[in-house]
Amino acid sequence: MDTKEFRIRGREMVDYIADYLETISTRRVLPEVQPGYLRSMLPSRPPRNPEKWEDIMRDVEKAIMPGLTHWQHPRFHAYFPAGNSYPSILGDMLSDAVGCVGFSWAASPACTELEIIVLDWVAKMIGLPKCFTHDSGTGGGVLQGSASECVLVSLLAARYAAIHDLKKKFSFVDEGLLLSRMVAYCSKMAHSCVEKAGIIAMVKMRELETDGSYSLRGDTLEKAIEEDRKNGLIPFYVCATLGTTSVCSFDNLPELGKVCEKENLWLHVDAAYAGSAFICPEFQSLLKGVENANSFNMNPNKWMLVNFDCSTMWAKDKMVLTQALTVDPLYLQHHHSDKAVDFRHWGIPLSRRFRSLKLWFVIRSYGIDGLQKYIREHCRLAKKFELLVRKDERFEVLGNVRMGLVCFRLKGSNIRTQTLLRAINMSGKLHMVPALLNEHYVIRFAICAQNASEDDIIFAWQVISAMASEVLAAVDS
Ligand code: PLP
Repeated sequence: MDTKEFRIRGREMVDYIADYLETISTRRVLPEVQPGYLRSMLPSRPPRNPEKWEDIMRDVEKAIMPGLTHWQHPRFHAYFPAGNSYPSILGDMLSDAVGCVGFSWAASPACTELEIIVLDWVAKMIGLPKCFTHDSGTGGGVLQGSASECVLVSLLAARYAAIHDLKKKFSFVDEGLLLSRMVAYCSKMAHSCVEKAGIIAMVKMRELETDGSYSLRGDTLEKAIEEDRKNGLIPFYVCATLGTTSVCSFDNLPELGKVCEKENLWLHVDAAYAGSAFICPEFQSLLKGVENANSFNMNPNKWMLVNFDCSTMWAKDKMVLTQALTVDPLYLQHHHSDKAVDFRHWGIPLSRRFRSLKLWFVIRSYGIDGLQKYIREHCRLAKKFELLVRKDERFEVLGNVRMGLVCFRLKGSNIRTQTLLRAINMSGKLHMVPALLNEHYVIRFAICAQNASEDDIIFAWQVISAMASEVLAAVDS
């Protein structure tokens, strides 16, 4: 494709994207395909000769689109929102075009410097204390590819720091032996990526019980630490969650922070979803206690209108974070290594996309006011949906509805709610996913679409309510 054709195809693609997003509601939210469907539609070997662009795009519509779950669909209420907006798409387009790989300051100074500035902006927007910003001199933020990576990186940093300290006391003890004694904590409601981080980092990850509001409390943590110390283990890390995936509950940060300080544990805070809501001052009280955390992450690619991938992470002490991940071959060094930030030391991969561009485009295009409006509307719609559920005696709502997620179920045995969810998803009218809250199976209703409206909420409730009548008649007969 030459530049002349790129100009034509590029314009066509922008039209295709705009048409897709504008008419998305005419499609089925969930595809009706079976595993392996695509094999029969595409050749088993790649083409020897170049193919026509028209033919490729024809196959997009014929073969790819029917196999998509449409995450931007107004009837999509599963998981959490997948951020999307035109400024963000354009930011990513530009990032792809410049194609720089910003692993060090020298590898593309603007890539590093914009990331620093935008991470400080976001920290200020969500009310993180100054100690987490680059401005502070000691802390700083970085973009990672996912919240899973942020959690893993924080665990690796904490593990490195803990082993480093232990080696001062027990220089003769093998690191492997120390590691075998180390134990980390999270709540039972933490995202599965915390368990996975434990597997990768080869540390025991103990999942602790929560209270009646699905919140991990300080006394539970303290008891676990005491028990583990008695058994010869070495507690070193806690991952608290603000806005759990299952029910958007909030661990008690002030209590956990106090325990971590007293017991000298690294406290990481995972706010992958809820973090974006802290742009609104009315939610910032939920951040109370964050000043005691060592690191914090949230995903603008969930709830801040930024497309995947874009996960922000901050550490209070950038030296402690980077010492765990620094390797420095000659070919990556440069003249400004001593005074510039080299983000390759802040994460796992070497190569890094220019992700801050899309975040910068979004913040500038919407402004803080625009982003607050978007978050508040989602929260308002969730409350509206909650009210509709609560008015129906057949249903109950579990957990507190604080942001854009409502967890509900049919009263009685789990099988009723399971059957209801299966029927709804199979109908293709809505898409939602379940969660297990202790022994209760619930349906998670997340407000996801960028321009979600009251009509969408009312439509969803009408589908759920009508299907509930059918399911209850069938299950109870
Ligand atoms: N943490 C929480 C609270 C989440 O809700 C999620 C995903 O929904 C994750 C972590 C994992 O996010 P990612 O897909 O960016 O790794």
